[in-house]
Amino acid sequence: MLLNLIASRWTPSASGESTPVFNPSRGIEIARCPLGSRADVEVAVAAARAAFPDWANTPAGERARVLFRFKALLELHIDEIALLICREHGKTLVEAQGDLRRGIDVVDLACGIPSLSMGQKLGQVARNIDGEAERFPVGVCAGITPYNFPAMIPLWMMPMAIACGNSFVFKPSPKVPLTAARLVELFVEAGLPPGVLNLVHGGVETVQAILDHPDVAAVSFVGSTAVARDVYRRGTANGKRVQAAGGAKNFMVVMPDADMDLAAEAILSSSFGCSGQRCMAGSVVVVAGRAAEPITERLRKLTTGMSVGATDEGAPVGMGPMIDQGAVARVRQYLLQGGEMLVDGRLAPNPPEGFFIGPSIVAGVGAESVLLREEVFGPVLTLMREEDLDAAIALANGSQYGNGAVIYTRSGGAARNFARSVNCGMIGVNIGVPAPMALFPFSGWNESFFGDLHVQGNEGVQFYTRTKVTLTRWT
Ligand code: NAD
Repeated sequence: MLLNLIASRWTPSASGESTPVFNPSRGIEIARCPLGSRADVEVAVAAARAAFPDWANTPAGERARVLFRFKALLELHIDEIALLICREHGKTLVEAQGDLRRGIDVVDLACGIPSLSMGQKLGQVARNIDGEAERFPVGVCAGITPYNFPAMIPLWMMPMAIACGNSFVFKPSPKVPLTAARLVELFVEAGLPPGVLNLVHGGVETVQAILDHPDVAAVSFVGSTAVARDVYRRGTANGKRVQAAGGAKNFMVVMPDADMDLAAEAILSSSFGCSGQRCMAGSVVVVAGRAAEPITERLRKLTTGMSVGATDEGAPVGMGPMIDQGAVARVRQYLLQGGEMLVDGRLAPNPPEGFFIGPSIVAGVGAESVLLREEVFGPVLTLMREEDLDAAIALANGSQYGNGAVIYTRSGGAARNFARSVNCGMIGVNIGVPAPMALFPFSGWNESFFGDLHVQGNEGVQFYTRTKVTLTRWT
């Protein structure tokens, strides 16, 4: 049974409930994760609250030194952590390394906290009066994360919140708790005082206890849209600041003038990377005009040639398993929705054990198909044909979501029109995934995000701090 980390000590959960953690490549249980109770949240928040005043008062440069040491430890253990991700999530080794690498980028950013959190001053803002604005940490922050990026998403939150002088309670996904525990262990080893970072394993009840706790000032959440919406409503109703990122439906438009080889490779990795379990996964490819034939043939060929296999030992396969049997069943359900199966992942030579389903391409679905509206979150690519760019943009803008959209073209005008017209927060031009980059906010819109300040970049610093303005008169 996994343990919580409270005030730098590994502590058993007070809850009697737990859930299995699987190695999805083999379909076998490798650990049990406690489903934390309100009592677990209580002790974690109490530890964080006790640690907050001293940490908040620690000079930013001293806090940054802990971040530098954390970064060094992550670099030192990158192979070990990547293999852990392969083992409990099922990513390929390259995907797992990328997961951690993107997270380390955020630690890099947080190392710059002394300059990132500098305030502003205007002498003589009024007659004989000087004005200054200074950033202060908000208090106890909490992070609630999904299963699909076991390292990157916790690292969107913890390093920046803690660098800003907050203390933190982290509730990872119970499907991938091993990576979470290792990250927290290394962060504490880097020199965090006890209670600045606490880990509570759990599920729904744990999240609700965090959202209801009066001593939690801010909550960062990433997960599915239905839960993100509820978390946002409950957290803000309880007076907290909340940033809650949700699901997605990402459209990729291929114009007739595109570099078809580049587009096909990029679409393949976008749609089937991490077995389609990415909030930025390309889900619908829209081929405009006469782009249809060249891109369809390339995609069919590349997809059929993908190898699917176990990733727990870091084997170099094209695509690994899905997270659990429920995820495979959900994808199978979507494949029953009609349309022409250009590639049928159910027929792929999938390994006999583990949670596998091969990559699929479905074409010719109707405008009302759930494949155009709902997030599949699996290796299913839907292919649509439209007359021209305007029609493709209209299709993309029919989505309730707003995470990302991509265009493949050689025309600057088409790319510009697309980037300005598509109703979502992350745009890609001739790339697979407009991935979250630490220096910029990860900007989901519409039903993909609830709140105003996103994770990462300057918005991350703003979310985890509040401004105090002081006006001073000396005569
Ligand atoms: P999920 O919503 O099931 O779970 C996310 C977190 O919420 C977990 O920690 C889980 O324990 C908790 N949780 C689950 N149900 C809850 C409930 N009813 N009440 C309170 N808490 C609850 O998401 P998941 O299946 O782990 O992850 C996949 C989803 O996350 C996809 O929809 C994906 O698009 C989304 N996602 C979004 C982003 C983004 O940045 N927008 C990034 C990664 C993943």
